Amino acid sequence: MRHFPAFLDLRGRTVLLLGQGEALEAKAALVRAAGAELREAARFAPELLEGCAAAFAAGAPEEELRALAEAARGRGLPVNVVDRPELCSFIVPAIVDRDPVTVGISTSGAAPVLARLIRQKIEAVLPPGLASLAALAGRCKDAVRRALPETGARRRFLERVLSGPVADLALSGREAEAEAALHRALAEAEATPPGFVHLVGAGPGAPDLLTLRALRILGEADVIVHDRLVPEAVLDLARRDARRIFVGKQRANHCVPQEGINDLLVQLAREGKRVVRLKGGDPFVFGRGGEEAEALAAAGVAHAVVPGITAALACAAAAGIPLTHRDCARALVLATGHTRNGEVGLDFAALARPGHTLAVYMGVHTLARVRDGLLDAGLPATTPAALIENGARPDQRVLAGTLAEVAAQAPGWTRGGPALLLVGEAVARRTAAPDLATAA
Ligand code: SAH
Repeated sequence: MRHFPAFLDLRGRTVLLLGQGEALEAKAALVRAAGAELREAARFAPELLEGCAAAFAAGAPEEELRALAEAARGRGLPVNVVDRPELCSFIVPAIVDRDPVTVGISTSGAAPVLARLIRQKIEAVLPPGLASLAALAGRCKDAVRRALPETGARRRFLERVLSGPVADLALSGREAEAEAALHRALAEAEATPPGFVHLVGAGPGAPDLLTLRALRILGEADVIVHDRLVPEAVLDLARRDARRIFVGKQRANHCVPQEGINDLLVQLAREGKRVVRLKGGDPFVFGRGGEEAEALAAAGVAHAVVPGITAALACAAAAGIPLTHRDCARALVLATGHTRNGEVGLDFAALARPGHTLAVYMGVHTLARVRDGLLDAGLPATTPAALIENGARPDQRVLAGTLAEVAAQAPGWTRGGPALLLVGEAVARRTAAPDLATAA
């Protein structure tokens, strides 16, 4: 960007106009419209700049123009000499004036004619009533600020008002009605502040593995919508009087179907609630957080995602297993063993690679199929593997061995808690994890 766009406040300020002619008169008209006082002179003298906020020149002898430009620059005063870019410290854009809306278009002096063509296009698309709409927003600014002190809520309110029925009234010149409608909408917005949904990652279940942001947001929630993976110890960190709604999911036994959860989140937000959708691990890793975010976006509900420590990271850390290792693991793949229409549906050829660490979520019930798929794709049966149950929780258990061993022993070993399978050479680089690792 060659020139920085900015709008000068010239109300009540003195502006010097040096010279004569049509070009200078055009500038004089603009400056007057901006509320400035004009100081007009035919010859330049440095005293003329005293108390000035800016200076324009055109139609004066060359040495006068140069003297002005130099003196103004010396004082750090904005100066514009018409059609002499080398003598200017600022340029005047093509202007669309729908006061208080002002659009300035500049081509940095490269093509003023193009700037004028662009201006015509903008003139054509901006409704004539735009000035009334902007003026209305200006008049109500303080009232809106008082009623909706929170920036996000205020922005959402204004976005709605400046594009909806209030805007239609103002744009069609029915200013008094528009203003009344705006105040009605404001009273309504004040009575029911717009809701917000946070999709929050609760981590693996240890309360001290929540993020600080998650903790703060839990403390501000009106409603917590949670599922089975989130333990009581984490829920206890929420605001005391926050309502808890369990929508727990167990394999193939969904308490509330996903569409039901999506609808519930939208409905609660529309009641003006601060909603926390609390999910095990990270919301965007096999947590269907993506679908919930889509549903919220489609319903126009404000929302944000707070990441959490996903099971692969938590389990690996708690079991002392590095997920990458300079010697033997240069990629980490997160995959799900969950079936869709009875199929595991994984691209085993892509997963069974040397130098990969593979983390399989929801894989206990399909462990034999995952093993078969990996072996068929050429992964050695002796590849190190570990199954971590209740990772990072007090009752964590680790079943470690080769892929063949772990898959064979798992059915008799598991106690039904959430479990994650890690496969790859890095798994053998396990170091004793102090407190939690209790190999079964
Ligand atoms: N969003 C979650 C994953 C949800 S899918 C996350 O990012 O971690 C549920 C699966 O996650 C479980 O079947 C299990 O494979 C894994 N999982 C979640 N918490 C776990 C834990 N504490 N220990 C072991 N596996 C866990």
